[in-house]
Amino acid sequence: MTSPADFMLKELMAMRAGYAARLPAKISRIEEAGQSLLKAGGGLEPLKDLHHLTHSMAGTSGTYGYAELSASARRLEIYLKKIIQGGNHEISSEQSIEISAMLADLSAASLIEDQAKDLLPEDVSPSPSPVSPPSPQSQPDIKFSSDVEAFLVAKPVERLIYLVDNDAVLVDKLALQLSYYGYIVRTFFHPQDVVAAVDQAIPAAIIMDLVFPGGVDGAKIAIDLNQERLEPIPIFMISTQTDLNSRLRAVRAGAKAFFTKPVSISAIVDKLDSLTVHQLPEPYRVLIIEDEADLAALYARTLEETNIRTFSLTNPLEELHYLKDFAPDLILMDLNMPGCTGIELASVIRQQEGYISIPIVFLSAERDLDKHLQVMQLGGDDFLTKPVNLAYLISSVTSRAERSRALRALMERDSLTGLLNHTTTKEQLELEINRAHRNNHPLAYAMIDIDHFKRINDSFGHAMGDQVIKSMARLLRQRLRKTDIIGRYGGEEFAVMLPGADTRTGFRVLEELRNGFNQIRHQSHGVDFAVTFSCGMALFPEFNDASSLNDAADKALYEAKRAGRNRIMIAHS
Ligand code: GH3
Ligand code: MG
Ligand code: MG
Ligand code: MG
Repeated sequence: MTSPADFMLKELMAMRAGYAARLPAKISRIEEAGQSLLKAGGGLEPLKDLHHLTHSMAGTSGTYGYAELSASARRLEIYLKKIIQGGNHEISSEQSIEISAMLADLSAASLIEDQAKDLLPEDVSPSPSPVSPPSPQSQPDIKFSSDVEAFLVAKPVERLIYLVDNDAVLVDKLALQLSYYGYIVRTFFHPQDVVAAVDQAIPAAIIMDLVFPGGVDGAKIAIDLNQERLEPIPIFMISTQTDLNSRLRAVRAGAKAFFTKPVSISAIVDKLDSLTVHQLPEPYRVLIIEDEADLAALYARTLEETNIRTFSLTNPLEELHYLKDFAPDLILMDLNMPGCTGIELASVIRQQEGYISIPIVFLSAERDLDKHLQVMQLGGDDFLTKPVNLAYLISSVTSRAERSRALRALMERDSLTGLLNHTTTKEQLELEINRAHRNNHPLAYAMIDIDHFKRINDSFGHAMGDQVIKSMARLLRQRLRKTDIIGRYGGEEFAVMLPGADTRTGFRVLEELRNGFNQIRHQSHGVDFAVTFSCGMALFPEFNDASSLNDAADKALYEAKRAGRNRIMIAHS
């Protein structure tokens, strides 16, 4: 079995081979620039040209492990920088000799074969590094005996729930309710049957009665089910018994939760959600701004290996609009680029709303400490010197992205539902319209408002009202695709964006949501009740900017209310 580290090493070696193949052309380019400079006897432009090339060479070749080459490029770079800063851009004959000698060194250094052979593996080997990848999928490199390995292959089926109870009425009701939240429920009346079912497919959770007829003990079955299992299946016990002894039996059987009958569906769904919805965090997103494609590719590959998503811009002046689309958690930025400096670009980015606090990690071949200080003062969050240690790159990026993600969630999300808040929802609508426009896709936009919500608050209390809002949010999150956008627009009002959906698809999806929602039974003090919503939908490109889309959906929603509620109206221009 190839371990992820081996695999990455192979890929990095392949990338380095690619760089090695392009190296002669890069060296020729430096030689040519050197010859033009010497022939012209100096001049600011030829000096700058050669300085830029050697600067890049020092950083990139070093990162790919060419230590000698990097050092000789850096010597020439520093020498040229002094001349540039000196003000006199004519070069003397002594300077000319120095430059020729350094150029020759550089060419010679590039011919040393495989000087980096040992450097690279050590740099990228994940084992001794301080890195803890955030990926829950990353597999530890442990050898298991073959029977355990076979066991490991069986992964739980997302959203599959086994429900075991001999009370047919309860089983049917609970299964139906859970299905509205997007769970796939298999029901069993006899606990023995669930043992056989687990051998075929592992569920995300098992909900099981504590006591069965004939003295069969649910707790005992629970223990048996999880025995010898490396990843225990979460088991929820339900019981008519509320005494301490029953609870203790459930705890001792390793139950994750204990619910007393009549069970509260929202409590069970809350618990299930916490197990299933948050299992896989979205990978961090890092925007790489680096004019050297070779380096950008190396950083990207290194980060992607630890389950970080990347997007690289090698021509930031022309491509900066990708910033909004990609919505990075962090920016990795080269300090020296043609056209503008990383510091200037950082200022431009930070001037944009929503990016004031995005962490920026600078990369540079710059050794000058004053320059580092200046960058830090301008709000750089870290400074990595080229050649970049790849293990350090990963740890620096991961820790900062994590903090950035947490801060952003606080600012962008509504605390009751975890959905996007009003402001972010509006911003997102602009983004989705731009994207739909560019991709030439339709976009369905819907405003959803819970019907007679005030009555729920009045009859059952504000806390129950909150429960209903949460169940609406939960339903939306579970029934819609990952690419759909869901926001809490106001109190009991939600906005939904379905990229790519035309009128027919949008209407079908919303109808399904409407049917799902009005079948959910809410419970308060022994009373069961259902709630409905009304919805107005408008389509892009029929309405082709955010405000007309919003107005149209809002008007359609009003129409739906007027026509009797619990329905969807489509806006027409
Ligand atoms: P309609 O069918 O016309 O939409 O009637 P409605 O009662 O749903 O609409 P209305 O706008 O009259 O009332 C909305 C109520 O929602 C008023 C407000 O007190 C309540 N509300 C707003 N935010 C929250 C919240 O976060 N929690 C709870 N429990 N109630 C809220
Ligand atoms: Mg650069
Ligand atoms: Mg309402
Ligand atoms: Mg309302």
